[in-house]
Amino acid sequence: MSRVQESEDVDFDSEVPLLIIGAGAAGLIAALAANEEGIDAVVVEREAAVSGSTALSAGLIPAAGTRFQRAQGIEDSPKLFAEDIARKAHGEADVKLVQTVARDAGPTVEWLADTFDMPFDVIADFNYPGHSAHRMHGLPSRSGAELIDRLRSAAEARDIPILTGRVAETLFADDDGFIEGVEVAARDGTRETIGCGALVLACNGYGGNPALVKQFIPEMADALYFGHPGNQGDAVLWGEVLGAKLASLSGYQGHGSVATPHNILITWAAIMEGGFQVNREGRRFANESLGYSEAAADVLRQPDGIAFDIFDARIAGIARQFEDFKNAEKGGALIMADTLDELAARIGVPTDVLKAELAEIDATRGQADRFGRTFATDKALGAPYCAIKITGALFHTQGGLAIDTQTRVLKQRGGPFPNLFAAGGAAVGVSGTKASGYLSGNGLLTATVFGRIAGTSAAKL
Ligand SMILES: Cc1cc2nc3c(=O)[nH]c(=O)nc-3n(C[C@H](O)[C@H](O)[C@H](O)COP(=O)(O)OP(=O)(O)OC[C@H]3O[C@@H](n4cnc5c(N)ncnc54)[C@H](O)[C@@H]3O)c2cc1C
Repeated sequence: MSRVQESEDVDFDSEVPLLIIGAGAAGLIAALAANEEGIDAVVVEREAAVSGSTALSAGLIPAAGTRFQRAQGIEDSPKLFAEDIARKAHGEADVKLVQTVARDAGPTVEWLADTFDMPFDVIADFNYPGHSAHRMHGLPSRSGAELIDRLRSAAEARDIPILTGRVAETLFADDDGFIEGVEVAARDGTRETIGCGALVLACNGYGGNPALVKQFIPEMADALYFGHPGNQGDAVLWGEVLGAKLASLSGYQGHGSVATPHNILITWAAIMEGGFQVNREGRRFANESLGYSEAAADVLRQPDGIAFDIFDARIAGIARQFEDFKNAEKGGALIMADTLDELAARIGVPTDVLKAELAEIDATRGQADRFGRTFATDKALGAPYCAIKITGALFHTQGGLAIDTQTRVLKQRGGPFPNLFAAGGAAVGVSGTKASGYLSGNGLLTATVFGRIAGTSAAKL
């Protein structure tokens, strides 16, 4: 239960210079950045183990102008990156926030690599929709579990306390919105109050709160939520009571390729490298190349809310760099067949319709098809063919507390709160108000860049 109380007469059980709520990428990076500035941060995490949506993700962080890109001969710049983010967000994202993340993502990824020994490299064998350059930086397993484990180890190595199994419930604030401290509840029912010099909200969005999803994102009200269940919208609920400005609450990241019934993310590489999607009737239904986020609602509109990714063995080879894809394959989600007839029979779609779809794709290669997608001339699918039954899901929300470029939370009536910061999914993202505004990687982009800025800004208080 998220509450705000006046802070008069609270005798805090302990006092810390900086308190951080949430031990995902944003929270742990904020703690590491503050630690670098010589400030002791304490992180409060509701779960018994550190995970968050960060652990569920592919752990890919987009960044422009990095040495990892240069090593592979990739030309890119923060300016080009900012243009890509702004275009995908239909011009709705805050320009200053966009410029900040585009400028700081490269230095943030290099800082993580150099200071915390994280072996990033750039995915260069396929590109994500909307990015003008190969700029997705990932760890060897291409999994967020590896990212969060490395962040947790880095925090532990620096003796940063992570108080797990504690839910932050009540913020104590004075009349000016100065946050004096927080009350947290442990699993055994005990409560403690922690006073703080500054507070960073890194507790992600409201994807795990069905009532808020229904209120702000009705099109995803009945969809599978694929993010971390602990993300209950506390930042937004506290913000409402404190009089914080909230922004882009209908924005979200969806994903139109989650293997069902296995519930495992299937990389969009399966689509971007030349694959496509058909529904139970064997028919295509959208321009898949626009992005996986908007594809979620497209898939959910199909009969039974399911569809099939259709690709081939070459593409499966690229997708296997992802731990998730390998797990899906091990779990029996990948269907392979030597002919399209056999594939259609195995997935139960009409052969003639599926064949007609592929014939049309081949006939229009190099030019826009009936959905406006242009399939590459040199990436025709060939036997053996592959299919995976998928559904659409809500991954995380993109709306949240309005922040400035120092990640200070802004008041509805103007100006920032004196010592309150927000980063990652707790704050507004750079995707605007629609699922289609989400450029791949916007989630960890704002978690990592704003997490680092939040830690540094809060430490400077
Ligand atoms: C399947 C999947 C794949 C994804 N892949 C990518 C990708 O490759 N690249 C990308 O950029 N983005 C990706 N995303 C999005 C990305 O995971 C998130 O945007 C990002 O992890 C958000 O980080 P965070 O630190 O804000 O939140 P989280 O990692 O969710 O951490 C928030 C933490 O706060 C805790 N918490 C919440 N409320 C409280 C409270 N009251 N008290 C104490 N603790 C609390 C939660 O338990 C949680 O551990 C993906 C998302 C999903 C679901």
